Amino acid sequence: MSKAAIVTGGSRGIGAAIVRALASDGFDVAIIYQGSVERAQSLAEEIKATGRNAVAIRCDVSSLEQVEKMTSEVVEKLGGVDVLVNNAGKTRDGLIMRMTEEDFDSIINTNLKGAFNCTKAVTPIMMKARSGRIVNISSVVGVTGNAGQANYAASKAGIIGLTKSAAKELATRGITVNSVAPGYVRTDMTEVLSDKIKEAILAQIPMKKCAEPEDIANVVSFLCSDKAGYVTGQVINVDGGMVM
Ligand code: NDP
Repeated sequence: MSKAAIVTGGSRGIGAAIVRALASDGFDVAIIYQGSVERAQSLAEEIKATGRNAVAIRCDVSSLEQVEKMTSEVVEKLGGVDVLVNNAGKTRDGLIMRMTEEDFDSIINTNLKGAFNCTKAVTPIMMKARSGRIVNISSVVGVTGNAGQANYAASKAGIIGLTKSAAKELATRGITVNSVAPGYVRTDMTEVLSDKIKEAILAQIPMKKCAEPEDIANVVSFLCSDKAGYVTGQVINVDGGMVM
């Protein structure tokens, strides 16, 4: 029977590239989205046309109730959960003195609590199978911090703590948990930045170019493969050398 992967935020950007990479690796894929129904459904059709199974499921990852329902639906439709990629994320930038409580909570709830909710929901399934792969998408700003992104950087630093704790809890059960920390990737999330900010970011990248979503997906694909069986609790920067 084929293996199944859940990719949160799989409707666009990095998540969509991860969906395509895992499907090409032989996984059936659950594409989890919040608002982009058409993009999620058309990606599911694209994957099905390649011979793999795919489902698009709407689920706000910040709600444990919705995540538990989504996980049951994945098990019912794809037969299990072998891989979880916690990729769903968003930004709401601003300086701390102007950042509202809601701006802070909303980002932590989606980016960090969302990853916790999904990890909590799939863990019993993976423990029972005595195997599994969890990959959490952090960010280099979770390591370095970034002015104007206290909420986002805190959520991404939290992802690293979550990754290492889960890796320690699940290591003896055959489940690996790792994190990928992208630098600057060409997606909707970065498209909204001004040209001035884009230039300032590029100036900090030794390779002098931004990543494509596939650059991130390739590393996620490796971490989900049999080849990465002895890698756990790690944070791998994929950033053109931005943070060393
Ligand atoms: P996009 O903005 O292109 O896509 C975000 C994805 O997350 C969408 O699929 C969106 O769903 C989904 N999403 C957002 N909130 C929720 C929610 N509450 N529940 C379920 N799904 C949700 O982002 P990117 O592809 O650029 O980023 C993907 C990940 O990579 C994020 O975690 C981001 O923080 C991280 N990252 C990105 C970098 C970059 O330069 N782009 C750099 C470092 C890290 P929908 O389409 O339905 O709205």
